Amino acid sequence: MFQKKSLLSLSFILIFSFFLAACSSNEASTEAGDGLKVTTSFSVLGDIIENIIGDHGSVEYIVPVGEEPHEYEPVPSDFQKVADADVFYVNGLDLEEWLEKVVSNASDTDIVAVSEGVTPIPLVGDDEDDPHAWLSPKNVITYVENIVNDLIERDPEGESIYRANADAYIGELQELDAWVEEEVAGISEEHRVIIVSENAFKYFGADYGFDTEGVWEINSHEEGTPQQISRLVDLVNDRNVPAVFVESTVDKRYMETISNETGVPIAGEVYTDAIGAAGSGAETYIDMIKHNVSVFVEGLKQ
Ligand SMILES: [Zn+2]
Repeated sequence: MFQKKSLLSLSFILIFSFFLAACSSNEASTEAGDGLKVTTSFSVLGDIIENIIGDHGSVEYIVPVGEEPHEYEPVPSDFQKVADADVFYVNGLDLEEWLEKVVSNASDTDIVAVSEGVTPIPLVGDDEDDPHAWLSPKNVITYVENIVNDLIERDPEGESIYRANADAYIGELQELDAWVEEEVAGISEEHRVIIVSENAFKYFGADYGFDTEGVWEINSHEEGTPQQISRLVDLVNDRNVPAVFVESTVDKRYMETISNETGVPIAGEVYTDAIGAAGSGAETYIDMIKHNVSVFVEGLKQ
């Protein structure tokens, strides 16, 4: 799989180096006072950044809602979105490693990691960091501070707008944080375990007092081997959990197998690597966290 990707990325670099060389190189400059053109990697960051930019600029993201960023393969229009932007915001913590490599070969737009300053949690049994820091609202406050500081540096004229938007949004995130604490307080110690396909809730678990387990650690690794499935079946039986969960961006069949084999129900679908589609009730970062917490509470509070 990695072999296939590196061949593909090489051909992308070759094709898009030619493609972009044909475009003028300073298209990213903006009229004074128009704000900034921002491109980001995936929809969760897109929503967070839109809250800070407001009407003072524009935000585009690359990985479509419903897809996950770990193994996303860019299409030609993605490179144009990055080349046209004043800045390309990525999560960092190696989430967009492959995407960054291809993009940095094809454009000279600055790439900025917005998770800077978050204390990384490693993947279980691996030296790599888990990238899913955004699943804890406490970390997203750090993201917002990084983003607003970077926006102001690039566009000092917009400072008062970016700062006011960021302060208002941080206020909403603090309220969200307090709401999460309150909601999960009713879940007993023994039921405080979140079991999903991709073990993506480590940062959430560390901040709000849950153990977390996945069939696999991260989507870019091998997914759903018989050994991974049987480990989880044993674990679900041992921990005597009332519910397991599926993700909007992950194949649900593995967790369905585990549910069938253990008799433990799937309590609902949660959002990890993308916000929800229109009509889902999870179209924003804040609503996606509220949805997740409501699903956890419903499944685990017994
Ligand atoms: Zn993920």
